[in-house]
Amino acid sequence: MSAIRHALTTKREDDFAAWYQEVISAADMAEESGVRGCMVIKPWGYGIWERMQRLLDDRIKAAGVQNAYFPLFIPLANFEREASHVEGFAKEMAVVTHHRLIADGRGGLKPDPDAKLEEPLVVRPTSETIIGDAMSRWVQSWRDLPLMLNQWANVVRWEMRTRMFLRTSEFLWQEGHTAHADEAEAKAETMRALEMYRAFAEEDLSLPVIAGEKPENERFPGAVETWSIEAMMQDGKALQAGTSHYLGTNFAEAANIRYQDKEGGQALAHTTSWGVSTRMVGGVIMTHGDDDGLRVPPAIAPHQVVILPMLRDKPEDQALLDYCEGLRAALATQHTLDEPLRVLLDKRPGKAAAKRWDWVRKGAPIIIEVGARDMENGVVSLLRRDALWNTDNGKPAFQTPTREIAGQTVPSILADMQNALLTGARERRDANIVRDIDTMDGVADFFGASKYPGWVEVQWSKPTGAGLEKVVEQLKAHKLTLRNVPMNTPPADGTCIFTGEPAVERVYVARAY
Ligand code: AMP
Repeated sequence: MSAIRHALTTKREDDFAAWYQEVISAADMAEESGVRGCMVIKPWGYGIWERMQRLLDDRIKAAGVQNAYFPLFIPLANFEREASHVEGFAKEMAVVTHHRLIADGRGGLKPDPDAKLEEPLVVRPTSETIIGDAMSRWVQSWRDLPLMLNQWANVVRWEMRTRMFLRTSEFLWQEGHTAHADEAEAKAETMRALEMYRAFAEEDLSLPVIAGEKPENERFPGAVETWSIEAMMQDGKALQAGTSHYLGTNFAEAANIRYQDKEGGQALAHTTSWGVSTRMVGGVIMTHGDDDGLRVPPAIAPHQVVILPMLRDKPEDQALLDYCEGLRAALATQHTLDEPLRVLLDKRPGKAAAKRWDWVRKGAPIIIEVGARDMENGVVSLLRRDALWNTDNGKPAFQTPTREIAGQTVPSILADMQNALLTGARERRDANIVRDIDTMDGVADFFGASKYPGWVEVQWSKPTGAGLEKVVEQLKAHKLTLRNVPMNTPPADGTCIFTGEPAVERVYVARAY
């Protein structure tokens, strides 16, 4: 076996956080802006987000939800109507107080005291309160329900500890907001959205997730129930990848969303909200990246196949370019994962090998190189991003099919890769979940024993209020958090590892992003 010279300088096993930053810059996905916690998303990173948007938007619309758009600025008073909501978000809200600047006498500008807003405007951290306002106008009778809306937008939460994609002060997301006649319907919608996120994560992003209910201390401010999908990153940490909330009548009361029911009486609507964000891009990096950069699941790859002609800056290049353009056009007529192939012919000047490593770091699923000799022989050199190395000689594992065979097999290679990434990630996750620890000391030992521990599923008595606060404190001492109570698991049969009382359910404990 020869040593492989990987395309990144940092290895996952040495420093996962530094590796993550290196992937983002080596794959040219995003960079820090001058504003703390706000990032510039570059074309390759944004292209992946756009693919996610497309696929999730199709799923949202298939459920009968309609897109709309609501204002960025929300009057502070809207928030104040729901006490726990405003309390939860108060510490991270950006507020606009003036609408004009004037000279400050030192060559700069300052807010004009005469242009102070009568009422401060909050830059939306989430839109329940402003969408609730609209719902109160749009919902009059039972015939107006259910009302199912979604918006794609940016939101601002003044986060103190930020990390690109995973936690930023401004982030892009979709937020679904629905109003229903009763609790049963609203809860069913909460679960529908959760299942939609599970399918989106697993089928489109090859990201295995565990769906479950968040414990009370992790609930969305103002929610009655919060459900999440949780994914395990390659360093064993959990990432909350999406959330779906049943809001009861809390926001309907605050915004006065009432309707005339079939009997002619007045009733309060029951509402839900659900969101996933650009955090998903970070989750894909931390799940599928390797020591050569990112590996993008084919369904969300902006380019699934990149063709690299080996140009030599000679007149003969034109014939090679024409040949490669023919290959590109032929591939582009094919379909995989229900869509036309996305194929790029990279005609930029420069050495093919250098460009190859660029695309490897970016994680394009298939790279096809074609030289003058290949053209004569009617073959291509094909590299699969998920099987990059020949471990016998430490060289890139090129296959050399004929041009025709390459054309025929590319769609199935991509479908296979989409699956293989999910299976690989799921096997890794399952191998890193432990279920047989039944004391808090055992939990502490587990998390102290290795650099990248996984998750522990424990049995607990589901304490609330002060009892739950004690559990949270106990875990915090080991930098641990409660993740979620998974669905469809066997009933509890032991004792609570925190309280010693009979257990009522199982809950995941993990370090988290
Ligand atoms: P929430 O409205 O708090 O339920 O958030 C919805 C989803 O947005 C969460 O499940 C996260 O995946 C994501 N999210 C929350 N805060 C941030 C942040 N600061 N940066 C990126 N994504 C976030």
